[in-house]
Amino acid sequence: MIPGPTPVPETVLRAIGRHPIGHRSSEFQGLVKRTSEQLRWLHQTTNDVLVITGSGTAAMEAGIINTLSKGDKVLCGANGKFGERWVKVAKAYGLEVTVIKEEWGKPLDPNKFKIELEADTKKEIRAVILTHSETSTGVINDLKSISEHVQLHGNALTIADCVTSLGACNVPMDEWKLDVVASGSQKGYMIPPGLSFVAMSDKAWKAYERSNLPKFYLDLGLYKSTCLKNSNPFTPAVNLYFGLEKSLSIMESEGLLNIFKRHSRHKDAVQAAMKAMKLPLFAPETHGSPSITAVAPNSINAEELRKAVLKNFDILLAGGQDHLKGKVFRIGHLGFVNDRDILMAIAAIEATLKSLTLNEAMPGIGVAAATEILA
Ligand SMILES: *Cc1c(COP(=O)(O)O)cnc(C)c1O
Repeated sequence: MIPGPTPVPETVLRAIGRHPIGHRSSEFQGLVKRTSEQLRWLHQTTNDVLVITGSGTAAMEAGIINTLSKGDKVLCGANGKFGERWVKVAKAYGLEVTVIKEEWGKPLDPNKFKIELEADTKKEIRAVILTHSETSTGVINDLKSISEHVQLHGNALTIADCVTSLGACNVPMDEWKLDVVASGSQKGYMIPPGLSFVAMSDKAWKAYERSNLPKFYLDLGLYKSTCLKNSNPFTPAVNLYFGLEKSLSIMESEGLLNIFKRHSRHKDAVQAAMKAMKLPLFAPETHGSPSITAVAPNSINAEELRKAVLKNFDILLAGGQDHLKGKVFRIGHLGFVNDRDILMAIAAIEATLKSLTLNEAMPGIGVAAATEILA
């Protein structure tokens, strides 16, 4: 029950577990062609979705270095570890970064983006860069509203880390006019780590033409031209492609709306359970991520609880990152997760709290609250 690597369906594992094939073979080209279509479906876009062999951060970095130039002004939203990572990547490439900060656990304020963008009458801001679902704190940011402010500005691009929102809640790339959408295989895709995905709008490709940041392996121009021929510039993780096709067909049979509903129900169930158990949610309930719920259990040592849940029940919860270590635990409900997983995780937390005599609440109260939602 961590937000990545997430559980992998047996059929996907079996698809991966075969002998690799040549990446220049016609068989592999067929696979690239089919998965490209599936990826467009997942992103709700007519743009190309390019596949990089790397982790999610490779897709984030690719988004920046393919659209921007040294010294460009950008706005970066930072309300958690992954927002802060954007700031680091942008600074590493010499961009001029204005950080729009929020305390960890609070959502980004779209109005602050609006103010900065409206004040930029010379239209110098080249990009607004942010994380949609902030995995470190369990907060979902209002990407849609922020993208609307970027549209009104006219010049800037919207570059979004959708690593734990894509495949969990609605991220309609074209409708929201997102220019760069980055994601990674070990999250909503239900396959092991190793592939990352970056989708680029026409506006992003125009920006590519003027971008002068150094790039070679992550030069998306190479990926685009080979993608048109149903191929890749370098040797891709061929076996993960087998899994990708399988997992995306599982997702297609469930349907996007059903996938979003399932994640939303699971988020609601976990929130209700934690409230019933009097364990405070770390993020505001209204801005809870569909893929992960962070809990700040007051005086209870979150690491002690996590270790005991793992030892007693073989269920792995995520811990707090950086300064939140020991203060927060996180329940992942992303990807291949069903109602049983949710109920078992809650029951395991309740039973562990009881055995450690850490909580006054009657065991069962959390499961009861979750059951109300799931029913
Ligand atoms: C997991 C994750 C990433 C990518 O991390 P990698 O370890 O590079 O795959 C980026 N952003 C968010 C919000 C994530 O949850």
